[in-house]
Amino acid sequence: MCTQGGDWQGTLPRRGILLRGGALAALGLLPALGCAHRASAGSGELDEPLGGPPVWTRPLSDKYPVSAAYGIKGKWLAGHHTGIDFAVPAGTPVYAVSSGTVDIARYYSEYGYAVMLRMDDGHFVLSAHLSKISVKKAAKVQARTLLGETGASGRTTGPHLHFEVRTKRDYGSDIDPVSYLASKGVQLL
Ligand SMILES: [Zn+2]
Repeated sequence: MCTQGGDWQGTLPRRGILLRGGALAALGLLPALGCAHRASAGSGELDEPLGGPPVWTRPLSDKYPVSAAYGIKGKWLAGHHTGIDFAVPAGTPVYAVSSGTVDIARYYSEYGYAVMLRMDDGHFVLSAHLSKISVKKAAKVQARTLLGETGASGRTTGPHLHFEVRTKRDYGSDIDPVSYLASKGVQLL
């Protein structure tokens, strides 16, 4: 059940593992060690067996109304809305959409408390305006790892999830999150 949230509890021991370098990761042992339940048979969860295709999922358990679509023009620095906004009550769990590494887990300017993941495919996925962050920088995550809870931190008029996908680490390299997840077989809307 490790993918159903609470995965962050494994962060501290995992840090020790990370310090021992990439050898474990190269052997494919890192995910197994980071998630003790992963190897148990018959769990029926989203995780594929080690070495299987990457698992992708939505950032929220349920579907919520879109309060601001991706790409609309407005007073953002980029001139358009760089992510998609979901009208979600504060305190709603936000999950990793697939496997990757935590790149940012802190207050991030106008994004408020935010988590940005570097996905294993090289893209960056940002979840913003959170009320709580449940992962630490450099932690490895899998699909459905709990990242935090929604809120209204940063520049926002109310609680919502801003979900953004970038091709690079930098602001302005955003792409349509709906198309991105669709290319992974996930329907965001
Ligand atoms: Zn937004």
